[in-house]
Amino acid sequence: MGLRKRFYVDIQTLNNAVTGSLHLCVAKFPDGETVRFIVDCGLFQERVEKVNDEDESARENINDLYNRSFPFTEDSLDFSLITHNHVDHVGRLPLLYKNGYAGKTYMSIPTKELIRHALNDSCKVLRETAKRRHVSALYTDTDVGQALSNFYGMPYDEPFYLVPNKVKVTFFKNGHLVGAALILVQIYSSSSKEVINLLFTGDYNKKNMFFKVPDLPKWLYELPVTIIQESTYGNMDTTDIEECFEENILRGTREQKTIVVPAFSLGRYQEVLYFLKTLQKRGALDPNIPIYGDGKLAATYTNMFLNNPNLGIDSEMTDFLPENVEFISGSEARSNVIADIHSKIIVTTSGMGSYGPAQEYISKLISNPNALIHFTGYTAEGTLGRRLKDTEIGQDVKVGSIMKIKRAEVMYTTEFSAHAKANEMIDFLNSFSKINFIIVNHGEPEVKEKFASRILREVNNVKEVGIASRDTFFRIDPYKCVKSMSTHFQ
Ligand SMILES: [Zn+2]
Ligand SMILES: [Zn+2]
Repeated sequence: MGLRKRFYVDIQTLNNAVTGSLHLCVAKFPDGETVRFIVDCGLFQERVEKVNDEDESARENINDLYNRSFPFTEDSLDFSLITHNHVDHVGRLPLLYKNGYAGKTYMSIPTKELIRHALNDSCKVLRETAKRRHVSALYTDTDVGQALSNFYGMPYDEPFYLVPNKVKVTFFKNGHLVGAALILVQIYSSSSKEVINLLFTGDYNKKNMFFKVPDLPKWLYELPVTIIQESTYGNMDTTDIEECFEENILRGTREQKTIVVPAFSLGRYQEVLYFLKTLQKRGALDPNIPIYGDGKLAATYTNMFLNNPNLGIDSEMTDFLPENVEFISGSEARSNVIADIHSKIIVTTSGMGSYGPAQEYISKLISNPNALIHFTGYTAEGTLGRRLKDTEIGQDVKVGSIMKIKRAEVMYTTEFSAHAKANEMIDFLNSFSKINFIIVNHGEPEVKEKFASRILREVNNVKEVGIASRDTFFRIDPYKCVKSMSTHFQ
């Protein structure tokens, strides 16, 4: 037997927690060739607002430092792949191009349709944040344009080679979001006929209200594979979900409250509107109670859901708007809506409350006991949504740069979540018959560990689980994780 030529891929993760998704993969081939690529290129968003005391300012600086540079040479990448159109997965692509990357970025066809809106909006938010902090913006419209001109939309389920005979990629439909994909990367060693199969879940959900999610093909479940698995809700089962949204909204309208529903502009916003429509249809919600939609990006996406066939929305779901809904924008319209004393429901962005009209509504209504603010999804550490959660009624809370007393009712529900819960992720992993290794990522540090322990106990034949973090990378060969090592990332 001759000497075994080296053949492996090193996987490094930039995000320690939920935001800032980016995996750097460096594949080494027996013929000496190296192929480098990244999966996702997201913005770090945790803690961006905490600027007050020294400690928190330091944290914000870390966040800013993470966002400003990549701990690798941008122009050494061969290609990049995107799982879905959320800013924590795509928001740094323009910076990548600004810093010298000139290669292609591949994504699903719906994501290609949607992404320019996300990047333009992100550019605007970053410009405003930079202005407030007296620093230069992370990137400009020109950088966004440069990125957009290098994006390619790929059909689902069709394998394509990105490096001839060496790297093959397939996108599979994922219920997390319209356009979301699970990405299979197959790396072939031509000399030894060995294969390294990597499956990136991105953010994962098995179902979506707006389109059908087909089962993954049988051959995929039978591949010897390393799975890079998200774990946002790795500490929560479907039985832990408290369905309280309907009850709270209906009670709020009976109590004549002004109800503000912060929602992510893509997916959640449309889902909440549809939910209100179903309440009206059942006769539970009086259609005379006005519903307002506020948020420019959300309005753009809503229009695309209604009219853009490339998004793949099921035809019976293109009619999701409730009766008596009015889309508004601008401070004046907002003030008029707030000044009206009648009960109303305002669906608005951003989903975690930190930016956009949601922040304006919360600022104006947080001290009003006749207001109900109802969050509809995950609120990351450092966001306004999380801060309000940690503040009791009657206590002070900082909204933007103003201190207020929290008097409004603030509620949370996870029933709309676009992420699979722990038990569903375990079921997903158990459908694979030959898992070589699992890397748990995209979760708060303690959640990742908890979920990893659960995998060890509940997923068949898995004996070790990697915990992704900024200071570790994993060397994967066709059969297993060979070793984990320290990175030198800042
Ligand atoms: Zn996502
Ligand atoms: Zn994410």
